[in-house]
Amino acid sequence: MKDAITIDGPVASGKSTVGKQLAEKLGYQFLDTGIMYRAATLAALEQQIDLNDENAVSERAEQLKIDILSPTKADGRQNDVFVDGVDVTGKLWEDDVRDAVSLVSSYKRVRQAMTEQQRRIGAKGKIVMVGRDIGTVVLPDAKHKFFLVASVDERARRRYLEIKASGKAADLDEIKHALKERDRKDSSRKLAPLIAAKDARTINTDGKNVQQVVDEIVAIIRES
Ligand code: C5P
Repeated sequence: MKDAITIDGPVASGKSTVGKQLAEKLGYQFLDTGIMYRAATLAALEQQIDLNDENAVSERAEQLKIDILSPTKADGRQNDVFVDGVDVTGKLWEDDVRDAVSLVSSYKRVRQAMTEQQRRIGAKGKIVMVGRDIGTVVLPDAKHKFFLVASVDERARRRYLEIKASGKAADLDEIKHALKERDRKDSSRKLAPLIAAKDARTINTDGKNVQQVVDEIVAIIRES
């Protein structure tokens, strides 16, 4: 997996925006794996499956057909996402998905189903893949691995500005609380927890804009 670049990190550390721009700059494919876990969560919520019923949630995730396409609307979205042929893009960042996604993504069969699809996409090469376990579990042989971090305050502020920019109401304290809670669950789960791969370069994105982080990553890749 010589030409795969993995970017992992906590909520709002800049992974997706940085990853997308990096991929554009290098002419690589881009995959935000968080979208897939959000799609699995939404599908379970929409079918009113009890989220604590691991079997039922897993079965639904295993059947899921997820298509991630280029964006057709300029409302801040990075992709159009279709689940079983239906455009669900607007729904994936709703609070009910955000609050349930860490539970759904802690389930073994859900992770297996998503990891399989991610590896299949990754095997084509020339890809920037972002998530929580890409450098550790999904593409452990990737040549370049990055782990982005930033302070809780900065991450909450970024998420707040993103939500405001999309025209919705946002509460900074609530955002900060939800973000810490999701990181806690993602970092403490047994399977594929959020953790930097041993061979990942950690980049602190505090006080840096997207372009600066992309440039830093490109410089590291060119040096190696
Ligand atoms: O990156 P994003 O915030 O969209 O991810 C949503 C959730 O999906 C994360 O909080 C985490 O629970 C799960 N996730 C995961 N493994 C990944 C990507 C996301 O468990 N590779």
